[in-house]
Amino acid sequence: MRAQDLSAALLELQQQHRFRQRHLLQTPQSAQVMIDGKSYVGFASNDYLGLANHPALIEATAAAVSRWGVGGGASHLVAGHFAIHEEAEQALAAFCGLEAALLFSSGYAANQAVITSLVGRGDAVFADKLNHASLNDACLLSRADFRRFRHNDLTHLEQLLAATPARTRMIVVDAVYSMDGDEAPLKKLQQLADKYDAWLFIDDAHGFGVLGEGRGSAVEQGLHEERLIYMATLGKAAGVAGAFVGGSQQLVAWLVNSARSYIYTTAQPPALAAAVLASLQLIAAEPWRRQHLQQCVGRLRQRLDEAGVPLLPSRTPIQPVIIGKNEQALLLAAQLKERGFWVPAIRPPTVPEGTARLRLTLSAAHTQDQLESLLDCMVAAIPSRG
Ligand SMILES: *Cc1c(COP(=O)(O)O)cnc(C)c1O
Repeated sequence: MRAQDLSAALLELQQQHRFRQRHLLQTPQSAQVMIDGKSYVGFASNDYLGLANHPALIEATAAAVSRWGVGGGASHLVAGHFAIHEEAEQALAAFCGLEAALLFSSGYAANQAVITSLVGRGDAVFADKLNHASLNDACLLSRADFRRFRHNDLTHLEQLLAATPARTRMIVVDAVYSMDGDEAPLKKLQQLADKYDAWLFIDDAHGFGVLGEGRGSAVEQGLHEERLIYMATLGKAAGVAGAFVGGSQQLVAWLVNSARSYIYTTAQPPALAAAVLASLQLIAAEPWRRQHLQQCVGRLRQRLDEAGVPLLPSRTPIQPVIIGKNEQALLLAAQLKERGFWVPAIRPPTVPEGTARLRLTLSAAHTQDQLESLLDCMVAAIPSRG
């Protein structure tokens, strides 16, 4: 793209209803937010447990800033690996029943690390069609043979596994699909991974904190550790930022020695590791957050179902309503906004063409009243197809 072509390209995005813009958040993340000067009940964040603005996390972070300062100052291998990072890694590994864990500044970087340091030219990676973009980018960057199987279609996956000549194989899935809210069949995927001697890499960005009493999808499904690589982000249910990769000690040692997105980047500010520790305590000690969230999910599904609004099969806080056309999804989002609800319209290329949707996300921070008034509005606005 040349500089002189930008304006035509941007105009084209606008004409296709694909132009994206950011909005100004003027309050902390919570159920009630001020955006561009107006107050909304938000159904857009991934702050599933309502921890992003929790006093315990704020206090832990403030105290840690006083203790450790602000900047990490160097990469982990040079001079940026603080004692508090180490403590958080050990706590995360113990919490998820894994031998070891490694902190990253973002889930995007963690996914690059795992995939590019374990598979390369001549190897093969098998990825679900609906995987998160960060996983797909990592697969491309790895230069391994990148094979995508139909969403949750294990027969298709097994055909690809059986046919590959590659020596190192990796199966890569989201545990909870970020735009659909449904889940990967982890137990069966692990059986295939064992049968074909492949790594099973699961991205639990939306399961950690929520499923398995907060310990995530791998714990909930009782997966064994052999060939398993677990990744979860800390900026969603945990309410902080960053991510971790969990697995064997050897796996972590290999990542530390070979993952470029770990080696060539400055360590996450140490105070955020203290926030992670505070968050883990709340995730463990306050199951009411998940219970309330579950009630909200049940109520939303019941009301929309009764009204004939089609839902996808999801028991998670991600509850999309497929609309189809970009324009129509934008229009509905605008109507909800008008009534004081912030609900994002998700369009291609984030989701497949023709499946533009309202992506509702629920949080333990929502009150029953907030949810009921959203549902009243949605039932009135969305044409029933039942
Ligand atoms: C959000 C997300 C990521 C990226 O994590 P960040 O910490 O935001 O970079 C990776 N995978 C999935 C499935 C996600 O939803």
